[in-house]
Amino acid sequence: MRQFRPIPPEFNLGETLARRVFQIREFRNMTRKDLSRYSRLKEEKIEDIEAGVETWLSVVERQLLAKALSIEPILLQEVETRPNLGAETMYALEIELGKKILEGKTVLECPKCGGTLNCRVEQGYDIQGNVIKMAKAYCTSCAYTLR
Ligand SMILES: [Zn+2]
Repeated sequence: MRQFRPIPPEFNLGETLARRVFQIREFRNMTRKDLSRYSRLKEEKIEDIEAGVETWLSVVERQLLAKALSIEPILLQEVETRPNLGAETMYALEIELGKKILEGKTVLECPKCGGTLNCRVEQGYDIQGNVIKMAKAYCTSCAYTLR
C-alpha cells in the first residue's frame, strides 16, 4: 500500500486541471508512466490532461486519477472545465437522461458539470388526463435541473 503525505495547505495549486495534475504528480515523484500505471489510465490520456487538451474527466477517470495521486477528487473536479454544449447536444443528453431515470437508474451524472444528480420519477398527467411518468433531476453541484 502506497502511503502519501497530504498536500500541504501552503502548496500553491494551479487553477487548471493540466497544472494540478502535473504539480501533484511531480510532488508525488511520479513519472507519467507511474501515474498511468497507478491510475490505469492510458499514458496518452495523462499527456493530454497535462497538455490541457483534456479539460474534463468522467467520474470514473477522476476517481482513478485522484486515487493514484492520493488526493480528494474535488481537487480535480473544481478546476475541470467542460466545453460549452450546444443546445442540440444538451437536448440529446436530456432525452437519454430522462430514459435512464424512468428505467430506475438513480446514480447519474449531471450533463452540465459531471456532478451527482438527484433523480426521481414523478407522476403527472398529460393533456388528456392520462397518468404519465416524468423524469426529474437536479444537480447537487451546480444549478442544473431536468424537468
Ligand atoms: Zn451539475
